[in-house]
Amino acid sequence: MYEAIVLGAGISGLSAARLLRQAGLNVLVLEARDRVGGRTHTLHDPHFGYSDVGGAYVGPMQNRILGLAAELGVETYLVDDNLYSLAETQGSVRRFHGTVPPVYNPIGFLDLNNAFRTLDKMADEIPREAPWKHSSAEQLDSMTAKELIERMAWAESTRNTFNIFVRMVFCVEAHEISALSLLCMIKCGYGIERISNIAGGAQERKFIGGAQTISERLADRIGRDRVRLGSPVVRVEEEADGVSVTCEGGESFEGMFAISAVPHAILQKISFLPPLPAMKSQLIQRMPMGSVIKTVVFYQTAFWKERGFSGCSVSDTGTVDCSIDDTKPDGSHPAIMGFIVSDKARRMSLDTPEQRKESVCKHYAKIFKMKEFLDPKDYIEKNWMEEAYSGGGFSNTFGPGVLTSFGEALLQPVGRIHFAGTELATEWTGYMDGAVQAGERAAREVLHRLGKTDPIEQELPSPAAAPPASADRSWLPGALPSIDALLRFGGIGLAAGLAWFFQSKL
Ligand SMILES: Cc1cc2nc3c(=O)[nH]c(=O)nc-3n(C[C@H](O)[C@H](O)[C@H](O)COP(=O)(O)OP(=O)(O)OC[C@H]3O[C@@H](n4cnc5c(N)ncnc54)[C@H](O)[C@@H]3O)c2cc1C
Repeated sequence: MYEAIVLGAGISGLSAARLLRQAGLNVLVLEARDRVGGRTHTLHDPHFGYSDVGGAYVGPMQNRILGLAAELGVETYLVDDNLYSLAETQGSVRRFHGTVPPVYNPIGFLDLNNAFRTLDKMADEIPREAPWKHSSAEQLDSMTAKELIERMAWAESTRNTFNIFVRMVFCVEAHEISALSLLCMIKCGYGIERISNIAGGAQERKFIGGAQTISERLADRIGRDRVRLGSPVVRVEEEADGVSVTCEGGESFEGMFAISAVPHAILQKISFLPPLPAMKSQLIQRMPMGSVIKTVVFYQTAFWKERGFSGCSVSDTGTVDCSIDDTKPDGSHPAIMGFIVSDKARRMSLDTPEQRKESVCKHYAKIFKMKEFLDPKDYIEKNWMEEAYSGGGFSNTFGPGVLTSFGEALLQPVGRIHFAGTELATEWTGYMDGAVQAGERAAREVLHRLGKTDPIEQELPSPAAAPPASADRSWLPGALPSIDALLRFGGIGLAAGLAWFFQSKL
């Protein structure tokens, strides 16, 4: 009998198994796909070397994944964003430096500054372990992120930038998620700037050799004979002194404990005996994955850089929501990575890959005004919505009411079954870093129950050691007034002026 059986060989399941192996436990990992890595997937091809079509970017404050990579000997390189970026918003194309498009209209600038500053402040007050315990949790969870920004923003440009932010973080539209879940994500990612930026932010680096290397090396450490690929789990049965885990085809394995590191969104495909408790069963019906197609287009040369552009772009209406240069650090295999997310991804999933390729290339040619984009060398893409063992990406989402009604059931083990997966992380939820945290937490829970560790919580390297969120914080100054404050100040000024005028006339 195994002491622990882990379901899923993504970063989370493998992080759990690694910790259990380090503690000397007899562990088995069952993975549905014929590869490890889950939502990280690195394609290898002589035409383009290697390329990540799943999770890829890491940045400061993500100490767990960075620490793990360092331990496994996986190096990182800086993503290039030193040249001009492009923003196609509200019908016009502008170039700028950085990741978040600036607003030049003074009213729009003050409004965006105030909205993002307010969201950061509100997020700061969310208890990351239990957002449903926030004093205004009910109110925040009963409204959508769209309703929240509509209450806050005066300018259309603010709502537009906010919508781009929500799409790029959740891969859904702002009306699909609750305001509480938005704030929770901002809290778990250390603020809007940290989440959005390349330099100093969550997109600062990539792994040399691709992100899937992390899982490959984890599997090597755990022992390849302990990681069974092509073994989709279909049933988990709890017995008096253990669990019985059955795979498609009928093969069963006995263990003392199980750790499910399968995304909650697709847990319904597994039958649990006895059935999951009411709250867990209802929760997993309410954690849908976002909608994303990741594309990479390769070119003969990085001609966009020669003309002063980094390859980074955002667009509110164009085919590609966000693009980032994907040329290898040594300058080989010039490429642009583009995310198609949310409603656009849903619409474009009806097209063929060839049609998407054409549409992506036309989009770049139009916004960069360079016809060379129409002549790609290679094109690869991955539509995560059609992946049976992921269900979408980047991660799950919470609609209104879910966190407050069902949140308590997120982390709770069910009998001998413990739960991992990035969705359950309390820092960098939805990211690779969160996958490590949630996996290690589940492993510690099991070790604790076996009397091997106490307390469950791990010692972490201090996130405070990371550099500031951005080299240039000028787009989010703290001292500037909001439009509300300006109007109030203007109103008081006007009243004082009128009082003085009439007094001097009398
Ligand atoms: C397109 C895309 C881009 C992303 N970009 C980034 C990024 O730049 N930076 C970042 O940090 N994160 C990014 N993410 C998110 C990141 O990839 C995930 O947060 C992380 O990989 C999740 O790891 P996990 O182990 O929790 O889940 P998963 O990787 O989903 O692992 C779950 C595993 O369970 C397996 N499984 C499912 N069902 C069964 C079953 N019945 N039996 C056995 N096994 C099963 C799956 O095959 C999978 O291997 C991105 C994700 C996507 C899709």
